[in-house]
Amino acid sequence: MMKGLLIPICLAACALAACAPVTQRPQVDDKAVAQEARKQRELALQDLAEDQSRLFRISYPILARGADLCAEDVHPAIGIRHGNLHSTPQEMREAASRVLGLTDKLQVIQVAAGSAAARAGLQARDVILAVDGKAIRAGDRAREHFTELLAEAAKARKSVELKLRRAAVEMTLAVEHERACAYPVLLHSADAINAFADGRQVIITRGMLRFIREDLELAVVIGHELAHNSMGHIRKLAGNQFLGTLLDILAASRGVDTQGLFGSAAAAVFSKEFEAEADYVGLYFTARGGYEVDKAPNFWRRMAAANPGGIQQRGFGASHPSTPERFLALEKIVEEIRAKKAAGRALAPEFKP
Ligand SMILES: [Zn+2]
Repeated sequence: MMKGLLIPICLAACALAACAPVTQRPQVDDKAVAQEARKQRELALQDLAEDQSRLFRISYPILARGADLCAEDVHPAIGIRHGNLHSTPQEMREAASRVLGLTDKLQVIQVAAGSAAARAGLQARDVILAVDGKAIRAGDRAREHFTELLAEAAKARKSVELKLRRAAVEMTLAVEHERACAYPVLLHSADAINAFADGRQVIITRGMLRFIREDLELAVVIGHELAHNSMGHIRKLAGNQFLGTLLDILAASRGVDTQGLFGSAAAAVFSKEFEAEADYVGLYFTARGGYEVDKAPNFWRRMAAANPGGIQQRGFGASHPSTPERFLALEKIVEEIRAKKAAGRALAPEFKP
């Protein structure tokens, strides 16, 4: 009893006086602290902008060139990432206004190479004022409003007119829209190495971006998640009474805190068959996006190594394909794609008769 009390009593004594720091350190003034805080918010913004830029640069060609694999779920797109202050996290808005010049008006942040927007001459920092003569609302619904206006305008004509402001000059550019899969690929701030599909969008964590070593690897993950959406896996699981967001555990089956990611939304793991199908169709998305998929199996092997507990023998009954089996299956898919490319055939997955 006495022994148990000893430590708390000692800590209380420390708190009162005896354990206060005794060194004389240099002082920092409040003004410098405020300046440093500003600098750090700026760095955080740049870091986020780099991740978003990388995700868009790699995902856009996959979404556009994979349109034929997305059946009905396609929409007109021009190949820009756009936003305004309202689409920026609250704590970064001051820095975004200062560094990126964002306001409450919709602005082009990035133009995908080779896209319709690039061909028409759109540039980052162009403010988008109107689509086919219809003004875009400023504020928190600006991005959605642009998407709606573009979809409406694209129905009528192959080319839409965008009214822009570049520096202080207003101009109108004609942009021929293109088809793209209507599954936005979004960045999630979580540190876990993970990616998700919920039937409507694809979400990649910043932890995954840190794990990725080269563009191809990210293209493989995006392809896999798109395939879950395009093949209707979520709808099929929903029929199996799973509701809410679906969790796709790519790397670590342990140590992933779904609570933090989904709140109260139901999370479910895809079935083994759906995973294998997402690997198959996903590599076609990746290949169509312009990537050499030969090294894709090795990426999944690296994921397996990051989570050795997940390496199991065939038929273990896990919801995910066991990793040795997955690796071998992927090598076969790579062979199939390589043969189609060599024969000049369309890059499309085979379906059961
Ligand atoms: Zn999956």
